[in-house]
Amino acid sequence: MTAFSLEPGQRAWCAELRALAADRLRPLAEKGEPGHVNRPLVAELGALGLLRRLFTSGALDLCLMRESLAYACTEAETALALQGLGAHPVHAHGTPEQRERWLPLVSDGSAVAAFALSEPGAGSDAAALSLTAHPDGPGRWRLTGEKCWISNAPEADLYTVFARTTPGAGARGVTAFLVPADRSGLTGTGLDMLSPHPIGALDLDAVPVTAADVLGEVDGGFRVAMGTLNLFRPSVGAFAVGMAQAALDATLDHTARREAFGGRLSDLQAVAHQVAEMALRTEAARLMVYAAATAYDAGDADVPKRAAMAKLLATETAQYVVDHAVQLHGARALQRGHLLEHLYREVRAPRIYEGASEVQRGIIAKELYKNLEGAP
Ligand SMILES: Cc1cc2nc3c(=O)[nH]c(=O)nc-3n(C[C@H](O)[C@H](O)[C@H](O)COP(=O)(O)OP(=O)(O)OC[C@H]3O[C@@H](n4cnc5c(N)ncnc54)[C@H](O)[C@@H]3O)c2cc1C
Repeated sequence: MTAFSLEPGQRAWCAELRALAADRLRPLAEKGEPGHVNRPLVAELGALGLLRRLFTSGALDLCLMRESLAYACTEAETALALQGLGAHPVHAHGTPEQRERWLPLVSDGSAVAAFALSEPGAGSDAAALSLTAHPDGPGRWRLTGEKCWISNAPEADLYTVFARTTPGAGARGVTAFLVPADRSGLTGTGLDMLSPHPIGALDLDAVPVTAADVLGEVDGGFRVAMGTLNLFRPSVGAFAVGMAQAALDATLDHTARREAFGGRLSDLQAVAHQVAEMALRTEAARLMVYAAATAYDAGDADVPKRAAMAKLLATETAQYVVDHAVQLHGARALQRGHLLEHLYREVRAPRIYEGASEVQRGIIAKELYKNLEGAP
């Protein structure tokens, strides 16, 4: 148990991952087409054994992978995370047949996964989702409706689709289905977003599914979704910490070299103190992410609160750090192709997805007041 510095072995693994990201993954990322799934990159993540680790590692290892990859190649980080998000429900709730068919393909990078929860009318309020599983005989349904802002759609090979099986039952009437991309009636279109990762909308028109496609229990899909998000929430924070550290290091390097007013930018106290503030906040976020992930691995009762705190603090911190890094670099940071121009586009979305910052505050407050139950 550590409180909190990493073991030497963990530190060495992070350094190895950063080197792999810079040397093996970044060149593949640069060859990818923006907004599309980069299959050679996903395959390389598989060949390096990193995708397999999504299903064999705990939450802390997941955080270390995401932070280290994000530091040197956000595209690789996101490709890895999306394989995990899309296929974790299969790993955690799939039948032996579902697991045997899909997990080896997701792990070697030959199948691309996606997690399809959000809809045009149901984002933060995911329990309001309306994509409907209409009964079509015993153990059979037809899925009809839309999903929106689904990362890796419409190019993924398998989708975890959350659908309404019991009308009017809110969170208790949702079922998770594993839907292979080649099912009849499933189509989609790409969306052009600020964040440089593949994302799209799905249109389901009477897509046939059976009991063999259900992940977990019928009407138990919300538990599948929330269990997946509880695991991934601290690791979104880790992604943010990796980006913040990359922005901070670039800023240290730049301000130590840039000449102005007869010295270096770093000689100006206002600049040096700003860099110190960026480092302070990045480290605080990192510690909270590691602590939340360790709590998850230990099965602690306060995981929802700590995961929400870690995701909230780290994503808001990364936005702060990247913004100030841009400021301290001046105009060059806004030039297309600059690391900070890229991070500036990347850093915005994590404050919205997997629970917007306001939703995290809601979770934290709910958990705090829960302990006062029975108070007058
Ligand atoms: C880059 C990117 C990738 C994504 N990938 C996926 C994916 O792979 N799968 C998937 O299912 N979804 C994905 N999403 C969708 C994402 O989960 C939703 O955008 C998110 O849940 C918020 O929903 P919304 O956009 O509809 O915003 P809304 O729910 O309409 O909320 C808008 C804003 O209202 C405020 N708000 C909302 N609820 C509350 C509240 N309870 N208290 C206080 N304020 C509140 C917040 O400021 C919030 O940002 C992705 C989104 C982005 C941007």
